[in-house]
Formats: sequence, C-alpha cells, structure tokens
Amino acid sequence: MQLLTNRSKVVVNKEMTLMEKLYIPAIFGGMMITIKHLFRKKVTIQYPEQKREFSKVYRGKHILKRDEQGRENCTACGLCAVSCPAEAITMVAAERKKGEEHLYREEKYAANYEINMLRCIFCGLCEEACPKDAIYLTEELMPANYDRSNFIYGKDKLVQPLGTSAHPKTYKPYTK
Ligand code: SF4
Ligand code: SF4
Repeated sequence: MQLLTNRSKVVVNKEMTLMEKLYIPAIFGGMMITIKHLFRKKVTIQYPEQKREFSKVYRGKHILKRDEQGRENCTACGLCAVSCPAEAITMVAAERKKGEEHLYREEKYAANYEINMLRCIFCGLCEEACPKDAIYLTEELMPANYDRSNFIYGKDKLVQPLGTSAHPKTYKPYTK
C-alpha cells in the first residue's frame, strides 16, 4: 500500500529497562515541568476579583440612553430592530401623553423594548443605525444565568439609570 505521508513510525514492542519500570525518571521529568511552571508569569486572572483590560472597541451589554434632562432618547423608530442581523430586538411604540414630556424626549417612545441576549452577537449594528443617539453597547459584561428567560432584557435592565454618566464608555452599572 502506498503511504500518503512519510510520518509513519514502526512501533517496536521492546522490553522496558529496570529504570523505566520504576518510572522514576518519568516522574522526576514531570515534576520538573510542574516546578518550572510555578515560576512562569501567570496567564490566568482571578475573575471576578481581577478584571482583564478590554480592547477599546469591546462591545458589551446595551444601554438605552437618556438625555441631559433624564428623558429617554429612544423614539421607537425601529431602525435598530431592522438593522439587527440576529433579529434580537423587539419593541412596542406608544405616544407620549401630556405631562410626560419630562420622561420621553420625543412624541413617540418605546413602551416596551426587549433584546434577546441569547440571539445577540454584539455586532453593534443597532448602535450604528440609531438616529437618536439612544442605544449604545457599553463595556459591561453580560452576567451568566441558569434560566434562558432571564436573557430577555427589557427596559428595566436596558434604560440608563437616572443619575449615572451619560457617556457609554464611562457608564457605570447601576447598583442598589
Ligand atoms: S449588537 Fe447586533 S445582534 Fe445585538 S442587538 Fe444590536 S444589532 Fe442585534
Ligand atoms: S434605539 Fe434608536 S434606532 Fe432603536 S428604536 Fe430607539 S431610536 Fe430607533
């Protein structure tokens, strides 16, 4: 039979020497490798106490921004949903009523806005499509969860909490 490569080896079933049978050189060699690694620079980090520095273009959890007066920027135009390649965004639009001008910047707003984070691929196209400066991807990591339903992020998790920094790169997650 013609061989495809020249990497084949003939296996010799030779008798082991006494030293080989004792496994001492092999154990010693293995321990030397372990000891050598103890003094090498660690490549792992102790997350979550320690956090790795992210790339400047890292895209994490979304935020629906408010303006300087604390009003929601989103006008429920749907452009983010249309541009989303994963079809992860859904929303229900509503009309702003009299007396709600301090809550919503535009006459139309998103009464319901949801992102399915299990579908999202964090491409950032929603951010680019938004004409109202309303949606941004922050540097915040997506927390793990055991329940799939907890990955449907509604306005309660997406809208920027009042009193936090408006800039997505300096946005600090809300803690009660
Ligand atoms: S980041 Fe991309 S995949 Fe995720 S919601 Fe926005 S457009 Fe859709
Ligand atoms: S986030 Fe922007 S693009 Fe999406 S519905 Fe709101 S205003 Fe439109």
